[in-house]
Amino acid sequence: MRTPLPLILSTLCAVCLPLLADHVNAAERSQPELDGVAVLIATDHTRPGEYSEASNGAEGRERDYIDPAADYLAGALRAQGLTVEIARVEEQLPTARIANKLDFDNAYAAYDDLLRSAVHAGSTIVALHFDADRLPPEASLADAEYVGGAQIIVDDRSLSASTKALATQLLEQDKILQTLARQGARLRPDYTDKLRMQKNQTLHIAGKSSGGAFLLELAPQQQAREQFGNPQQVTRALGPALDQLAEAIARFRSAQL
Ligand SMILES: [Zn+2]
Repeated sequence: MRTPLPLILSTLCAVCLPLLADHVNAAERSQPELDGVAVLIATDHTRPGEYSEASNGAEGRERDYIDPAADYLAGALRAQGLTVEIARVEEQLPTARIANKLDFDNAYAAYDDLLRSAVHAGSTIVALHFDADRLPPEASLADAEYVGGAQIIVDDRSLSASTKALATQLLEQDKILQTLARQGARLRPDYTDKLRMQKNQTLHIAGKSSGGAFLLELAPQQQAREQFGNPQQVTRALGPALDQLAEAIARFRSAQL
């Protein structure tokens, strides 16, 4: 039986309206307003269990550890009087969930646009991460090809004067890594007192910001868990370093901008 045209239209419209609303939101998201946002905290990875092209990070669940640390740092920055936003890749989609390859591509395209908006706004961009403990994971520390740890990373393809100045201040003046070490985080061998240069998509965009940008690996994830416990306990243990980081960013911005 043929469906009468008015019924098709009304069915279509019921389906269409939310879709149109989504498109409007998507258009707004492609040029997000971040003017007045002092700090954007980038969480970079996809959540555990969601569609991923190896973007789940350490142990497939880096966001479990990043998210509470990002919330804590946001609070510490707000206590310094700074306006803060946290960028989460899945939140760039209306569904707030990455279910497939198309979602993945759209979410990261919008995420990169958000980073560009933060650069445009002169925000300070902080990418928070936890490092792989060691690679291969079953190797001993002595035998591992890669031994991870707390470190500050910048991308030399994208180093504004501010990015260079901020990363150097955090490393040499504030000695954030040494604070992390005092709290019990293992530092990355050979990068305890120098910046690590690494190609990274977030830094490639963010490093151009007049507010400066850097990637901070807070600790090797497995070591942090064995040392401190669950993600909330890890955040609590690293809290003094995150407080110090917030104070250092506030000082940098008030001197620089
Ligand atoms: Zn990571």
